[in-house]
Amino acid sequence: MTNATKFGLPKKVIHCKKCLMTNQKPFSINETKNKSGSKKSGLLFNEDGYCYACVYNEHKNKIDWDLRENKLREMLSKFRKDDGSYDCIISGSGGKDSQFQAHILKDKYGMNPLTVTYSPILYTNVGFKNLQNWIKIGGFDNYLFSPNGKVLSTLARESFINLLHPIQPFKLGIKTFAAKMAIKMDIQLIIYGEPYAEYGSADYEQTDSPTYNEDWFVNDQEIYIGGLSTSEIIKKHNFINEVDLKCYMPLKSQEVKNHNLNVEFLGWYLRWDPQEIYYYAVKNCGYEVDDQRTDGTYGRYTGIDDKFEWLHFYCQYIKFGIGRCRFDVSQEIRNGHITREEGILLCKKYEGNIPDRYLEDCFKYMKLTNSEAFKIIDNFRPDHLWHLKNNSWERLQELDQLNQ
Ligand SMILES: [Zn+2]
Repeated sequence: MTNATKFGLPKKVIHCKKCLMTNQKPFSINETKNKSGSKKSGLLFNEDGYCYACVYNEHKNKIDWDLRENKLREMLSKFRKDDGSYDCIISGSGGKDSQFQAHILKDKYGMNPLTVTYSPILYTNVGFKNLQNWIKIGGFDNYLFSPNGKVLSTLARESFINLLHPIQPFKLGIKTFAAKMAIKMDIQLIIYGEPYAEYGSADYEQTDSPTYNEDWFVNDQEIYIGGLSTSEIIKKHNFINEVDLKCYMPLKSQEVKNHNLNVEFLGWYLRWDPQEIYYYAVKNCGYEVDDQRTDGTYGRYTGIDDKFEWLHFYCQYIKFGIGRCRFDVSQEIRNGHITREEGILLCKKYEGNIPDRYLEDCFKYMKLTNSEAFKIIDNFRPDHLWHLKNNSWERLQELDQLNQ
């Protein structure tokens, strides 16, 4: 018997002793190489059974945050401009994190940020309103880029069919957008929010350094979008040409050669607590919560700008057994806002619920019927996580409390 699972993740599921994350949470090392059959590595655990996200959270308690803030001031003073030009770039949809980053950098640290937005696939009403709030109430200049909808709809469809990852083209686009805009606008400093270690990224170097390696957005090799190489896409869909795919492409090393790009994570310098950031964004930028609970979880203020976000989390639940509710409770358990037992109860109630609200909009956008889409979804259920019994799907290797 082979040990290989559908996505190369460990066959035996391990749950973190503190939060509810499992070792099935994947890390795509390089999304531009993701194609059907690609193997991923999962969230790592320490020898005591705690996931790296929890380990990093503990590590945060030992950090001297005053010292880190001093370092932030030092770093910013190297880039701050007083000649009437922008000195840093913040990329965001207008969600709470980007609102917080831009506002605190301008208001508290005297920077002159330019905000840029790579449009979500299908903006929700509240998401678009928050983009406007960011600009109007927070007070920022903003460039909004919206990729060709005909092309994106095709790429999202390919990505859903081949990888069950409908937002992958968006992820590829947004990843390099800030760097591309920084080059165009001659800005040297790009600031992101949460360091990846918050989610248990195995890249431990990031816990010791606030800067990010250029390799993150530079890539000279062949690129895959939605599981297809660019030449395969152009061959298969003859209305798409190279220019149409440009916004999904990483930068070539040639393009960054003469530019000094510095990428920094604000969450390395300032303690990052999503709930506190939410309060800050409401107060300073008019951030609005959704008018209803997010399907599949219990909150109303996280990841509410793209209708595809709902489907994306549902796909994660199918492929990796980790639903939207579990992401939310795990983070809140780590930050001490709820207990593990409360998290289990919330997951029991909400995890894996079908996100009805925008499902049809997403399927329509990808030109799929409901039954076609669910057939595709079921094909992605790995054998070691799901079992079909009497026509309904049972979860395998799940915590007893969640399986009852
Ligand atoms: Zn954990």
